[in-house]
Amino acid sequence: MIVNLLNNNHSYSIQKIKKINEWVPGKLFSITITKDKNFFFKAGQFTRIGVGINNDTNNIIWRAYSMVNSPNEDYLEFYYVIVPNGKFSRILSKLKFDQTLFVRRQSFGFLTIDQFQKNTDNLWLMATGTGISSYISILKDKKTWDRFKKIILVHSVREIKELTYQEIINKIKIEQSTIGNILTYVPITTKENTECVLHERLPIIIENKRLEEMAKETLDCRCSSVMLCGNPEMLLDVRKILIEKGFTTKNSDNSKNLVMENYW
Ligand SMILES: Cc1cc2nc3c(=O)[nH]c(=O)nc-3n(C[C@H](O)[C@H](O)[C@H](O)COP(=O)(O)OP(=O)(O)OC[C@H]3O[C@@H](n4cnc5c(N)ncnc54)[C@H](O)[C@@H]3O)c2cc1C
Repeated sequence: MIVNLLNNNHSYSIQKIKKINEWVPGKLFSITITKDKNFFFKAGQFTRIGVGINNDTNNIIWRAYSMVNSPNEDYLEFYYVIVPNGKFSRILSKLKFDQTLFVRRQSFGFLTIDQFQKNTDNLWLMATGTGISSYISILKDKKTWDRFKKIILVHSVREIKELTYQEIINKIKIEQSTIGNILTYVPITTKENTECVLHERLPIIIENKRLEEMAKETLDCRCSSVMLCGNPEMLLDVRKILIEKGFTTKNSDNSKNLVMENYW
């Protein structure tokens, strides 16, 4: 009863942790929590989640996290990194099954396919690290595939073990191929050398065209839409190169074909 009253009166709802997945011990986790029935979002958006410092609900700290699940699933999933000495993620790492998380009732952000007014041949989703969160949501959403028949998912991480969500990516790839859609997955590991995986930073492999070779797709402002998500330094460098190649973040003549989301 008290929880229900609190749930109805605040700008946030109170949710319970139902599953915690440790992808890379001590570093990369995902968390599945209950979802308020009135919480809506578009694939690619984020919300703010809150934790009470020392379990004190008068002292909640908030951080932005992208939803990993698709909008029509009846739970919320977040994928996160534990930042060394990070105020919020350190508390998050200690939470256990059935404990409480606060979730803002609003969703935010423009890393969504409706930002692109024009239809293009392909959609490039480029992420560093946890930036892949929003793209899993986008790839799970049927609306994405109604608009784009060819999608290239580029995930740049430091080490191979950080190439997470591969099972889901593979499942989507197989499902979509049965209806003629193509999902191409291009992993990049910048600190570990392995065969068949690219190792250089994204700006370099875009400029020297290795990324297009690997994906067997064209990255061209006349036929591609691009999303960038994650490390702000990477976003800045890639943005510069793409703008030089004719991409635009502006929507004059409905021509926007580049959208991005900085994680810090
Ligand atoms: C729109 C948006 C969406 C976000 N979505 C996610 C998400 O889905 N998953 C997620 O883990 N984080 C996400 N973040 C970052 C998140 O909000 C927090 O900043 C992060 O969890 C660290 O909080 P903290 O208090 O532990 O660290 P802080 O004390 O706030 O330390 C911040 C420092 O940690 C580093 N950092 C922050 N976030 C990351 C990250 N994701 N990967 C690597 N280094 C990082 C940066 O160097 C930054 O300066 C998002 C941020 C924004 C703005």
